[in-house]
Amino acid sequence: MEAMDTSISTEEKKRRLEQKVFVNRSLTLENIKCYGFDMDYTLATYTSPDYESLGFEQIRDRMVSIGYPHEILRYKYDPSFPTRGLVVDTTYGNLLKVDSNGNILVCSHGFQFLKGHIFYPYYIKLSSHQDLEKYSLLNKLFVPSIPVLNSSSLLKGFQHGDLLMSYRSMFQDVRDAVDYTHDTGSLKELTTKNLEKYVVRDPNLPVLLTRIKEVAKVFLATNSDYYYTEVIMTYLLESNVKPGSPRKSWRSYFDLVVVDTKKPLFFAEGTVLRQVDTNTGKLRIGTYTGDLQHGTVYSGGSSDIVCDLLGVIGKDILYVGDHIFGDILKSKKRQGWKTFLVVPELTKELQVWEERKNIFEELKCLDLYLAELNKMDMSYGQMGSLLRSGSRQTLFASQLMRYADLYSSSCLNLMHYPVNYLFMAPPVLVSPPLWSNITERRLTAESDSGMKKLQSNVHLLVINISHTEDGCLYPCTHEGFIVNLRCTH
Ligand SMILES: [Mg+2]
Repeated sequence: MEAMDTSISTEEKKRRLEQKVFVNRSLTLENIKCYGFDMDYTLATYTSPDYESLGFEQIRDRMVSIGYPHEILRYKYDPSFPTRGLVVDTTYGNLLKVDSNGNILVCSHGFQFLKGHIFYPYYIKLSSHQDLEKYSLLNKLFVPSIPVLNSSSLLKGFQHGDLLMSYRSMFQDVRDAVDYTHDTGSLKELTTKNLEKYVVRDPNLPVLLTRIKEVAKVFLATNSDYYYTEVIMTYLLESNVKPGSPRKSWRSYFDLVVVDTKKPLFFAEGTVLRQVDTNTGKLRIGTYTGDLQHGTVYSGGSSDIVCDLLGVIGKDILYVGDHIFGDILKSKKRQGWKTFLVVPELTKELQVWEERKNIFEELKCLDLYLAELNKMDMSYGQMGSLLRSGSRQTLFASQLMRYADLYSSSCLNLMHYPVNYLFMAPPVLVSPPLWSNITERRLTAESDSGMKKLQSNVHLLVINISHTEDGCLYPCTHEGFIVNLRCTH
């Protein structure tokens, strides 16, 4: 046992930061009997920002075709602006960055960031799930921005002469345009015609799937249709074989392939399970009720049916996906599956964190560099980090920690861990309340005996965090925490 721990420790040191898998709850891969994978943005990653730009342009062009002014054609996708997990207020047309307690951290109207005194009267706090249900969560990586109209007072729409266009109707039009690009298949058609440009092909993918299939069952569950799945998976797994390796069908990497899953419905009552005729791509008539047939592709179904066909139960499954609601939240809450969230943005988050974490460390000790911290936030993009705003966790971060057992920038990072690896959650956390408390106590420190008192408070607070139960959003090893603790003594 000791020898194994030593070797893992050595291996961990070799792993580059962006290849790490982070842990919210301990999980032993050895106990996983079945791995499930989503396809889009999980097994198939898309070239960023080219792919988001393509989607943005499709939606923008559709908006013009239904009557929006041609002026919006000048808008180009700006990858630094939107962040996933933002809340869209369709009443006032604002984008809100919200922390895990429902406090508004950032508010933008179009591309203009509003100051607190303008937006505070409209949003005290989104304190409950009911509050959040009034708004829409931005889960896409592209969003056409609503033009800035008036930043001194918040209106409910765009007034031009006698015409009022509400933000709610604009939002619905954008949503309809997104649906249109999916329903007509125009985005997918352009993607399949330019696979090399838009789809990232990693030679490690067939290696990872082969390795996993040797020790567990593997299934694919995608909302995409059969035709698109066939083109993408063929590109990823059949045209990417290392010299000398036998060429085999992409379907042979899986024990079960299910397309048209309609997640999150798939994790509840689901839909009718049908077989797909892989020669024609058409669905066979009737509900499939037989045993699992290898190499067969199914359409629809539900997570219960998948468990029955594969002979596994919820806790045996590690499901890997990129959508926190459709993939992770529902599979965890409704089925008790173990979950692995793919967060492509982590690559940049970690890069900025590595480059600028000294600023955060300084804040940890003195809390005097809020302006510098703001500069750090801006390094992520105009909306700041996906996971935090300054020292506070975002709503996205809190959902990630609650529902994903593991998370990483790519599912391929499982390659860097043995298939019997024990992911151990760190027992102690660097949590946002720590920094909030430091701020509050700093005032006391300044008015009393200054820095000495502050240092004393920091010490107390660091001791206190051993009693918190929030997760750790950044690579904080046990060693890392111990170093922090010692600093304060
Ligand atoms: Mg996906």
